[in-house]
Amino acid sequence: METIAAKKDIRTCSLPELEEAFRELGEPSYRAKQAYSWLWQKAARSFEDMTNLSKPLRLMLEERFVIRGIQLDKTQVSSDGTIKSRFRLHDWHLIESVLIPVPEEQRYTVCVSCQVGCSLTCKFCATGRMKRVRNLDPGEIFDQVVLVSQQSVETFGHPITNVVYMGMGEPLLAYSNVMESIERLTSPSGLNMSPKRITISTAGIAKMIVKLADDGCKTNLALSLHAADDAKRNEIMPINEQNNLEVLMDALDYFYKTTKNRISYEYIAFEKFNDSLADAANLTRLCRRFPVRVNIIEYNPIDDAPFSKSEEDRMNAFALF
Ligand code: SF4
Repeated sequence: METIAAKKDIRTCSLPELEEAFRELGEPSYRAKQAYSWLWQKAARSFEDMTNLSKPLRLMLEERFVIRGIQLDKTQVSSDGTIKSRFRLHDWHLIESVLIPVPEEQRYTVCVSCQVGCSLTCKFCATGRMKRVRNLDPGEIFDQVVLVSQQSVETFGHPITNVVYMGMGEPLLAYSNVMESIERLTSPSGLNMSPKRITISTAGIAKMIVKLADDGCKTNLALSLHAADDAKRNEIMPINEQNNLEVLMDALDYFYKTTKNRISYEYIAFEKFNDSLADAANLTRLCRRFPVRVNIIEYNPIDDAPFSKSEEDRMNAFALF
């Protein structure tokens, strides 16, 4: 008997591969285009949804393929209005996405995961304590956007407007799947989102930032900076030991000159670690080489964290420097 595991996930097929599979089933290529549109434009979750395909064809597809969608497992609403969703993958691993609503600006951002776990062991991050299990498939990243957008419509009457790759995992270490998911989100044969509404957020892998630029990346880029000198950054982000700030600044400068896409720094303020005026002065120095926007973020402490969130007056003084 054929098992689900033996069937191919139809969403791993490119359009030419799907056309070839349809030819083998004796179906014309426009039928493959219709199925492709169901998968990526209409985000169909089952073959049964593909109502302009005949019933026998839908059954044939079901015998041959699966759609490995993600399933909502749990949601948690925070007092600041963000909604955290936990999703179960086909192999029972769990990942998280977060909906961040800013209704007054009509901005509804989904923060998506791209890996199960993460290999980068940043000291302030809960995911950094889990070992990396695998990269998410492009379809699993795509599903987070679709399902959280539905959640946003149900809760706020508005679909998501922005996507940021800042959930579990390092996007530049899941490179091809992340790029493929962006293609599905931005392509006219997918969700047709503007790439300007998408941000890849990296802990900082210089050679991959250069690759992004060389590959003609159209999205924005954020660097999780969190410390503006190498000694402090090494302490909290081991990736900095092979990708120090000078190397990263060179890579970001190249990215900016090549793409002209927006760059931002994410900077979590940790109490008495990186929130002094001297730290602010270091950060200012890192803002001189190319245009960059700085987002100062309040820390949400994890269990047994060696850090706490910066006090409001320290954070304000830092931000106003
Ligand atoms: S790269 Fe991101 S997900 Fe990975 S450990 Fe660092 S902060 Fe956490």
